[in-house]
This record gives sequence, C-alpha cells and structure tokens, in this order.
Amino acid sequence: MSTPDILIQPSTTALSAAEREKLMASPGFGKLFTDHMVTIAYKDGAWQQGQVKPYGPLTLAPSASVLHYGQAIFEGFKAFMQPDGSIGTFRPEANAERFNRSAARLAMPALPVELFMKAADALINIDKGWVPKNVGESLYLRPFMIATDAFLGVRPSKEYLFVMIASPAGAYFPQGVKPVTVWISEDYVRAAPGGTGEAKCAGNYAASLLAQAQAQDEGCDQVVWLDAVQRSYIEEMGGMNLFFVYNENGKPVIVTPELTGTLLPGVTRRSLLQVAKDLGYESREVKLTAQQWRDDVASGRMTEVFACGTAAVITPVGHVKAKGYNFTINNGENGPVTMALRDALLGIQHGTKPDTHGWMHKVC
Ligand SMILES: *Cc1c(COP(=O)(O)O)cnc(C)c1O
Repeated sequence: MSTPDILIQPSTTALSAAEREKLMASPGFGKLFTDHMVTIAYKDGAWQQGQVKPYGPLTLAPSASVLHYGQAIFEGFKAFMQPDGSIGTFRPEANAERFNRSAARLAMPALPVELFMKAADALINIDKGWVPKNVGESLYLRPFMIATDAFLGVRPSKEYLFVMIASPAGAYFPQGVKPVTVWISEDYVRAAPGGTGEAKCAGNYAASLLAQAQAQDEGCDQVVWLDAVQRSYIEEMGGMNLFFVYNENGKPVIVTPELTGTLLPGVTRRSLLQVAKDLGYESREVKLTAQQWRDDVASGRMTEVFACGTAAVITPVGHVKAKGYNFTINNGENGPVTMALRDALLGIQHGTKPDTHGWMHKVC
C-alpha cells in the first residue's frame, strides 16, 4: 500500500525573497521559521490526510493529554544546499526510524517511514528558498508528535498530531570552533534503566533543565550525565553524545560510551563511528567512569574529547568541572582528530566529499 501524497495549501502571506534574505543574513538557531509546516492527524486508529500549510499556531483543547501527561516526542535533522544547487537531507530515514522507536516507548502510534520522508520532502520543497547557501549553515527540520485527546483519564491518547516545522540554522560556531566547558552532574540524573533515556521525548528535556541551569551557575556551558545506578559511568552531554580520543602507540583510537538503554542513540554518533573507520581510526564502544576520564587525561593517554549531535555536529570539550575537581583537555584547544572527523562529516553533508555510504537523500 503506498502512502497518500501530502496536500499542499500554499501560504498567501509567505515572505518575499528580499524579506527572507534579510532575515537569513544571520539566522542563528531555532528562532526563525519557514513559511509552511506539515500536519498529519491520527484518529480512529489511522493517519489522516497530511497537509503542507502556512506555518502558524496549533489549536488544542486545554484538556489535550499532552498538556497533562506529556506524551510528546520529537526529532531533528538537516537539509543542506549542495554544490550543484540541489538540496539533500542527511540520513532522514534514520530519524524516521528512531521517531518510531520513541513513539513505541511512549505508547504512541508509528508513522510510516515513507510518510515521514514525504512530509519532509514536501516541506523542504515548498520552502527551499529558506535553505541557507553557506557552508556550515542548513535548514533544520523539527518533526514532533503530541497526544491530542481531550480527556483527563490516564491512558495512552487515542488521537495524535504529527507536525513538522523547519528553521534555517546559521553556523553553530560563527566565530570559529571553540571548545566548551562541561559540568559533571552528581545531583541529578537524566535517565534510569527502564526509563525513557533512549527515546527522544520532551520529558527527558524537561527533567534536564535544572541540571543545565546548575552547570551554568558553575560557569559551564553544558551538563554531563552519569548513569543513574552507580553514578559513575559517563553517559552523554546535554543533548549530545560524547567521544573520547586516545593515543595508543601514536595512533588515535575513538572511544564512546556504549548504548546501555539509557543513552540516546545519536545518528551523528553512529555516523562518526563509521567516518572514524573510513579515516583509519580504530573505535570502541565502552563503559567509562568519570574517574577513568580524569585519570586518562592526567596520564596523557586521552588526548581529545568532543560531543556530537545534529545541531552542532561536533563540539570539542576543553574543560571539565565537577564537585571538588576540574581538569583541562588538550590545553583547552581544538584537537586534530576532532577537527578531522568534523571536516569529514561536514564534507559529506555539504556535498564536498563523496557520500560513500549513501547517507544523503536528494530532496529537489
Ligand atoms: C538528539 C539527541 C542526541 C543526538 O542525536 P543526533 O541524532 O546525533 O542528533 C544526543 N543526546 C540526546 C539526549 C538527544 O536528545
């Protein structure tokens, strides 16, 4: 059975090219939205006709269950202008599949991968004038699903709304890549075994904000999470996965925390494990304690640390702070392995390096 096409209802108030160009001179992140959005409602056990329509407010009953019990999931992926003027998205199927794993964990219905892809392609196509042209810039796609039953009883909602919006994103580091300082949180945890750590759900973020605020109070940019049981294993950083670079007999070895069920399995993480292999680096998925992190930096075995995710791609970590100690990695500077991985992945995304794994999806 093929998925129905998305109905197109063009905006009558879309910005002119000149107005759009003015806004896009400095897009920043997540504050500027394109002229359209996609909505697909789910009711009576089925997805209804999908629509591309003017970007605008959603109407919800105050009793909508998402507002009370938080059945809400989301994704994030990017479209990039290619050197030949075409537009490509990076591994959108991977996001569609993860969206459905998140949906399953939150007792929400799956959205056919093909429909997710059609929705993205239709939105990008109608708003292609919003895809930034400069290297480092992209159009960020934000699909999400919320429970819309007007009912206060506690059970999975029977009605849902899938929405996709798009936001032009500027270079993450307009002043050049600069390492961040991280705070290892010992007071709060992000995810416990059996919880929702593997799902990209809104609630995970709600629960993280206080720890993130604490990190900022400590003069840090981001929080690093430890596992909920031992409170010693490194899990991830804010909304990004972590990588550690070791020097073993002069060769770089890339190490990342293994997916234990409490980490979010990043598409960037997975892609970088492959890119590392392509560059001839050995890689390992391990369990690493905060103590080991500190010891391996002190002994000089660990030479670089970075975080990765769709928004920033790769962010070097230069300084680490926790209660009672702090240390610096690579003199607080960008490391060569980190930057080589970053260049390699950005090259594939922007079409300046060969896409040997078929990761780019051509939209238009
Ligand atoms: C989205 C996310 C990531 C990164 O995933 P990508 O697919 O690489 O963008 C990492 N951690 C958390 C908690 C996330 O929500």
